[in-house]
Amino acid sequence: MARYYVNMNAQANGDHEVHKTGCAWMPSEQNRRYLGEHSSCWSAVVEAQRHYLQSNGCYYCSYTCHTS
Ligand SMILES: [Zn+2]
Repeated sequence: MARYYVNMNAQANGDHEVHKTGCAWMPSEQNRRYLGEHSSCWSAVVEAQRHYLQSNGCYYCSYTCHTS
């Protein structure tokens, strides 16, 4: 299990990126929303989509959930 967070600020393309603890691209504390502990990025992205419809896995820490 890993702790996941979603960036409250959208990227230029509108995506809200989902990150795992330890990612170098983790947003700062005031710019992220905690998504809970997940065994994979898939359920973390589903959780993120409850807040931000356009959520996407981070290219670096959650590549298998990243769509371009
Ligand atoms: Zn990341």
